[in-house]
Amino acid sequence: MKPSDPKANPHIEAMQAYTPGEQPQGGGWIKLNTNENPYPPSSKAVEAIRVALGDNGTLLRLYPSPDSTPLREAAARVHGYSPESIVAGNGSDDILNLLIRAYAGPGRSIGMLDPSYSLYPVLAAAQGAAVVKVPVKADYTFDVDAVAKCGASVFFLTNPNAPLGVAFAVERVIALAKVFPGLLVVDEAYVAFAGESCVDLPKQFPNVVVTRTLSKGHALAGLRAGYAICPLGVAAVLHRVRDSYNLDRLAQVAAAAALQDDAWLNETVGKITATRRRLMDALRGLGWKVNESSANFVLAEPVAKGGVASVQAAESAFEFLRSKKILVRRFPNHFLTEKALRITVGTDAEADALVAAAGVWTKG
Ligand SMILES: *Cc1c(COP(=O)(O)O)cnc(C)c1O
Repeated sequence: MKPSDPKANPHIEAMQAYTPGEQPQGGGWIKLNTNENPYPPSSKAVEAIRVALGDNGTLLRLYPSPDSTPLREAAARVHGYSPESIVAGNGSDDILNLLIRAYAGPGRSIGMLDPSYSLYPVLAAAQGAAVVKVPVKADYTFDVDAVAKCGASVFFLTNPNAPLGVAFAVERVIALAKVFPGLLVVDEAYVAFAGESCVDLPKQFPNVVVTRTLSKGHALAGLRAGYAICPLGVAAVLHRVRDSYNLDRLAQVAAAAALQDDAWLNETVGKITATRRRLMDALRGLGWKVNESSANFVLAEPVAKGGVASVQAAESAFEFLRSKKILVRRFPNHFLTEKALRITVGTDAEADALVAAAGVWTKG
């Protein structure tokens, strides 16, 4: 018998991979498409990596802490929890995957707001779990009752929302936590750029988990480190299903050092939020429609001179910017985002280059 292409499980054969933002090869690009931080990370993180390597990298011979003790202890200190409440992940995407692996599957759906992070459905598909989408309302809030009754075993609330950029009030999240019968996951990937956080909720509610990443606020997307702040019962479950060494030695100590460098975080977030204001004002000055933002990106609808926002205008502006080697992101699959570009807040110089090119496009 001739060997043939092996068939994967039916639900895997049927699924599609996540489409990440473009990572262009070669230099000269202004990269405002994946919400990376434009500044170098804390020098304390870099120093921690040097120490963790040892002479000639000799410490890499050894397996890391299986449960990422250095990172969990640092996160516990920063947020006022015990390390038992923290589970570390190889990026917060790893944590999201663990949550779905443990709490969803055939007959146990996941829920999410629509629009929000498009990775959740991919992770759900890999576990054979269905997805229930609850629409974000026209006033950019969500209906607590609709989420409470959506039937999902685990609901992902991206707060601040991506790609809309808006933050939902903590009070509304608390109202939801009180009535949602499953596990409520508050994905706080962008919280460093927002005013408030749900970080204390896992102390008060046995059904609320908060996820954090070092990728956005802490400028460590290339390191792959994130964590969940959990009620103790949930933490024990996640430890059961994670890889035995899910973070490498370097990520554990660099993330721990970065988390404790408040001065770096305050300075960097201050610069990014100042640039955000300047970018929003400049785009509005051109006549573009710009959402308020609690994140390190802005969602903006391009409006050509004498024109209106439209899918065509968004496509045209996207291609024009690309021709100038400026990369942004489009979300054409939802009516709240199809006319818009999502633009990462970079440095002032990057924002100025974007605005200059946007000005040329706008004037036609
Ligand atoms: C970027 C992002 C993440 C993932 O962060 P990693 O730690 O890099 O895996 C999770 N959720 C949302 C909403 C994000 O935008």
